[in-house]
Amino acid sequence: METTPFWLAEPPPELEVAATDSADVAVIGAGITGCSAALALARGGLRVRVHDARGIAEGASGRNGGFALRGGAARYDVARETYGADAAQELWRRTEAALDRLESMAGEAFRRTGSLRLAADDEERAEILAEYEALREDGFAAEWRDELPHLRPEFRGAIFHRSDGALQPARFVRGLARLAAAEGVAFQQNCRIESLDALEAEQVVIATDGSGRGLLAELDDAVWPARGQVLTTEPLDERLFECPHYARHGFDYWQQLSDGRIVLGGFRDFSILTEMTDEETTTEPIQEALDAFLVELLGRMPQVTHRWAGIFGLTQDLLPLVGAVPGRPGTWVAAGYSGHGNVLGFMCGELIAGAVLGREDPLLELFSPARLLVSG
Ligand SMILES: Cc1cc2nc3c(=O)[nH]c(=O)nc-3n(C[C@H](O)[C@H](O)[C@H](O)COP(=O)(O)OP(=O)(O)OC[C@H]3O[C@@H](n4cnc5c(N)ncnc54)[C@H](O)[C@@H]3O)c2cc1C
Repeated sequence: METTPFWLAEPPPELEVAATDSADVAVIGAGITGCSAALALARGGLRVRVHDARGIAEGASGRNGGFALRGGAARYDVARETYGADAAQELWRRTEAALDRLESMAGEAFRRTGSLRLAADDEERAEILAEYEALREDGFAAEWRDELPHLRPEFRGAIFHRSDGALQPARFVRGLARLAAAEGVAFQQNCRIESLDALEAEQVVIATDGSGRGLLAELDDAVWPARGQVLTTEPLDERLFECPHYARHGFDYWQQLSDGRIVLGGFRDFSILTEMTDEETTTEPIQEALDAFLVELLGRMPQVTHRWAGIFGLTQDLLPLVGAVPGRPGTWVAAGYSGHGNVLGFMCGELIAGAVLGREDPLLELFSPARLLVSG
């Protein structure tokens, strides 16, 4: 059984070892956020060095479900109530634009399949109906589906989000790293940064999502690590799912890849307390729940080829922290996507680069770290 994620099985890019001369910006984290930020910073004329304790995309960015979704981690109707109507609209519109940019850069790593957000019971049906109506009211494309004959167990309706898609996340992030390297970005891999003081750069961008514990105490208090577990099956002969599917508030998610494999993740809520951890290991209770659901979905147990875990960062209001760290001049953060970081991470990498380069943006107000960080 492979415990390395299926996505990371492809050989990594060969990048030149980072030069030791000084950089204007040091980025900690070579996931989707760090690579996206590094590329945008280099294109903005700065000298950039990216540091990672592991390799490119070996954190959550190479361990996720591969869903590329618009919006934030909260439902759209809830986002309108919590963040305000204008802010929610801006966030959804901007992630749709980020998806378009991602598609234009991703090549074969992205398929514009749409996604199906399912209701597991009547209560969830009422919730996603409210989301569907809110999206339509504000002019966002969304389709309601009552007939779901391809699915067992039975679901109680779904929203089809046509603009979403399926991402080979590691391939995409490694592609970003290659583009960044071509713009002069230096990568220092397999080297953990123990303290920000060790970095010789005027500006530091922390792009560690849920795995940066120990770098800044105030960040540890605001971005909580959570573990997600995933499995991949052998390729199946039959095509069962045309797009990524997710249910139970996004706790369960699965998709079928072009080669017929099923990628299934979730069931974190079956053991919610033990899954609030940054220990990157699979556990029996969650893997058993995944297996049982696989049998429900397929009517049989296929061979499972990969099982893995990954760590993501949760925040109290389900929005990321993107911007300057209060009380620490020259220190920036982009992290805390609450399990929704493929498109958001790509977008927030660009956003934090813009902030470092002095650009204003309404999203920087919404994502302001000061709302959750107590000055260190
Ligand atoms: C199981 C799972 C399923 C998910 N499914 C989806 C999904 O389908 N769709 C979606 O949109 N999102 C999903 N997510 C969330 C998404 O994967 C993340 O939000 C996103 O990848 C975060 O990217 P990042 O670059 O910010 O962080 P990461 O990819 O986690 O990268 C952070 C990097 O920082 C490095 N690092 C940490 N500390 C240090 C240090 N001290 N020194 C040097 N390096 C350090 C780590 O090694 C790591 O490589 C999922 C997450 C998980 C775990």
